[in-house]
Amino acid sequence: MHVLILGGTTEARALATALHPGVRVTSSLAGRVASPRLPAGEVRVGGFGGVEGLVDWVREHHVDAVIDATHPFAERISFNAARAAATAHVPLLALRRPGWVPAEGDDWHQVASLEEAAGALNGLGWGDLRGRSPRGRVFLTTGRMGLAAFADCPQWFLVRSVDAPEPPMPARTEILLDRGPFTLDGERDLLRRYAIDVLVTKDSGGAATAPKLTAAREAGIPVVVVRRPPVPEGVPVAATSEEAAAWVWAGWELSPRTGRTR
Ligand code: NAP
Repeated sequence: MHVLILGGTTEARALATALHPGVRVTSSLAGRVASPRLPAGEVRVGGFGGVEGLVDWVREHHVDAVIDATHPFAERISFNAARAAATAHVPLLALRRPGWVPAEGDDWHQVASLEEAAGALNGLGWGDLRGRSPRGRVFLTTGRMGLAAFADCPQWFLVRSVDAPEPPMPARTEILLDRGPFTLDGERDLLRRYAIDVLVTKDSGGAATAPKLTAAREAGIPVVVVRRPPVPEGVPVAATSEEAAAWVWAGWELSPRTGRTR
């Protein structure tokens, strides 16, 4: 039995650990991070070359099932996985940690994209700042890709990412290289130290980066939350690595969440 895990997340690594060595596991990483945390089992790095490349890889390596355990915002590879699995006639499961839910006291502003997040910044508390003396200090935690959406924003930005981002990015940006998990005390301290006025995040879900939301709530700081793209239609979803591992051990007879048989 050979399972291909499309990875790059904590859950993908936990799943590889749960399956290896009982099952042959290959984890695939996009190669975006310079020194990634490596999962158990075999690892391959780099794009496949679109849907066709993924189909070829699945066939050449005799893959029996694919688990898309990529980040909830990695939309392209998830779409490719759905198309490739259908073409190669292999079962596919999406492993998606649940999204975050606002709690009492949260001041969340949900938007559909990074571009909308950039637009929302100008309406949060201090009015439209474009073309005027800019103020407002933004903690941007949406990753180093996609900073171009904020390039024209006049605010000051603290950008936290694993590897250094490349331009285009906002003119007034400080980079903080760091990788989760983050602690509540650390996040409280960071918001205070940098005098943050607003937090921008994707709805990534999971515990590793959630403390920033609690710290923002405590400090009364508004949060711009970018909503998730949907999982490709018809793909069953597991919420945890344990659920995904159970799907493999059961021979993918049962589809988590939907209960459909494949
Ligand atoms: P994406 O936009 O969905 O994918 C772009 C291309 O990168 C894909 O078409 C594919 O190239 C390649 N790719 C992506 N994930 C891959 C994987 N696991 N193995 C092999 N190739 C992969 O992806 P992204 O948003 O740039 O994210 C890239 C990786 O970083 C993902 O694996 C994801 O789990 C991880 N990640 C993403 C985020 C985020 O916010 N987007 C956050 C944390 C971690 P080909 O078409 O050539 O196959």
